Amino acid sequence: MPIELLDRDVASKIAAGEVIERPASVVKELVENSLDSGAGQIEVEIVRGGLEMIRVTDDASGIPEDELELAVLRHATSKLRSVQDLSRIGTLGFRGEALASIGAVARLSLVSRVPGADAGHYVLVADNDVVERGQQGAPFGTTVFVRDLFKNVPARLAFLRSAGAEGARCVTVIEQYALAHPDVSFRVIVDGRLAFHSPGNGDAVPVLIEMWGPDTASAMIPVQPTNVGGTTVTGYVSEPGLTRPRRTGQVMFVNGRLVETRILSYAVADAYRDIVQRGRYPLVVLFVTVPPHDVDVNVHPTKAEVRLRREGEVIAAVQRGIRRTLAARGVVIAPAEGASDADRASQPIPAAPAESDVELESPPLLAQTPSDEGEGGGREGVARQASQFTLRPVGQVGLTYIVAEGPDGMYLIDQHAAHERVVFEQVLAGRMSEAKASQGLLTPVTIELTASQRLALEPLGALLASYGFEWEPFGEDAILLRAMPVTLRESEAAQALIEVLDRRPDDEVIASDSLQDGGEGIMDSQERRIAATIACHSTVRAGQALSLSEMESLLTIFQEADFPRLCPHGRPTMVHLSAAQLERQFGRR
Ligand code: ADP
Ligand code: MG
Repeated sequence: MPIELLDRDVASKIAAGEVIERPASVVKELVENSLDSGAGQIEVEIVRGGLEMIRVTDDASGIPEDELELAVLRHATSKLRSVQDLSRIGTLGFRGEALASIGAVARLSLVSRVPGADAGHYVLVADNDVVERGQQGAPFGTTVFVRDLFKNVPARLAFLRSAGAEGARCVTVIEQYALAHPDVSFRVIVDGRLAFHSPGNGDAVPVLIEMWGPDTASAMIPVQPTNVGGTTVTGYVSEPGLTRPRRTGQVMFVNGRLVETRILSYAVADAYRDIVQRGRYPLVVLFVTVPPHDVDVNVHPTKAEVRLRREGEVIAAVQRGIRRTLAARGVVIAPAEGASDADRASQPIPAAPAESDVELESPPLLAQTPSDEGEGGGREGVARQASQFTLRPVGQVGLTYIVAEGPDGMYLIDQHAAHERVVFEQVLAGRMSEAKASQGLLTPVTIELTASQRLALEPLGALLASYGFEWEPFGEDAILLRAMPVTLRESEAAQALIEVLDRRPDDEVIASDSLQDGGEGIMDSQERRIAATIACHSTVRAGQALSLSEMESLLTIFQEADFPRLCPHGRPTMVHLSAAQLERQFGRR
């Protein structure tokens, strides 16, 4: 379709975008344009981190001469016409904003030649105005030059890292698109040197080798293509032994679009639950395909967040795809095949296998769902009801799970997760109270901090103090820790503090109390993250032998928890086998 200005009604419904944040944003938008236009080859050149120049050349369909000037106007696009189109977007771009936004912060020029044209045509944009146009020799396709990025926006420049770091980000963006489009050949030249190349032969493996090196790439396992409802999942995953301390090795696409969606991160974490060490992230490259009308890409300026209509289905497909793949390698036990997967994921708390009649009979502790928790008042009700019955410990399995009997059957409770949940709530509540739950250390501890830890301490200082940490500067690079939150084990106080300082905000998803409400409940506020870290270092561990009376006291406080079913990291704290299920299992019913 030709480029046209969107009418005002459509334009107003588009999530407004400050799309150009850094050089990598330019690269992303230009590469998306080339892909949208059907490129088979894309060459990107980056000079001085992209600040001096970014060039993207493709062999795609080109822009006709009479549309060149339109292309650089805001809300001018060939990809969208009506509000209805917004609900079935099949292209990476759709807002018609990228070129205009780039034109506002850089000197932009476009040279393009469409099939059949004798020559190419160009426009030059400065300060959002076309300052020059004309004809020039050019190959078929489009070349976009972006020069002097942010020269007119010093504020933006101030937030950028070194040229090397910004250039690396640009390369990462291209690598990721190369993964999603193995049929397109990419070449990236950074300061005159070839930095990345993909053959474009339809195979993603050479791209993985370029990205991660041959050793890591060859350790990636192809995901068994998996379908749940309309969702398909393919890609590559690592065995649980191959992990990174951050999510940098997790690349996920929805309908060919690179996304950062908590729901997917959660689904991956859950698929590797119990087999990957805490705080480590397996390497995954996932391609999720859903029907276009099931994904809303119009929720985030950089289009990185998407909203998925059938989240449960997507989570189920990802979990099942990964689990099946790992099972085929003998890493985990094969998941049960069948529809219950989708049920399980749409209700990510895998307590009792769903049997609706049984669920209804369940005691209050287990019957609570976010829908009956409501916003505020419901909480107390649930907590009060919960304390009306007791879990009686019977024993311990694998020094990790407490076996207990309750009013409706049998419960297996993860001792660490359950204790963590209780302490997490106590820590959060304690912070609000007047009497700060702080305790002096018997021997103050000197903690050497790295530069990044020192930087993290500044903004987090007040928050950490509110939890009961007290410290003072000690020389140039160290602090002297004098007091800690009262629940914390003294031997772990320093470690807990370091862990808080080391954690980047996006490192970990802390599950909120209502994971089920469409994922909105997954939150990651600093408060919760710190409380979860404190809780983790305050609690009994898996592998710790507990006496019956210790189990009893743990179960007693556990039943008082507001939200007993999930640990602060979103893992289930317990598995329930109802009396009815037991009877069925033994053929009594
Ligand atoms: P959007 O991609 O959201 O439509 P852009 O501002 O990125 O908005 O681009 C505006 C229009 O310019 C596109 O809709 C497309 O028609 C045209 N265009 C941009 N880049 C290219 C390219 N590399 N090849 C062909 N057409 C392009
Ligand atoms: Mg675009």
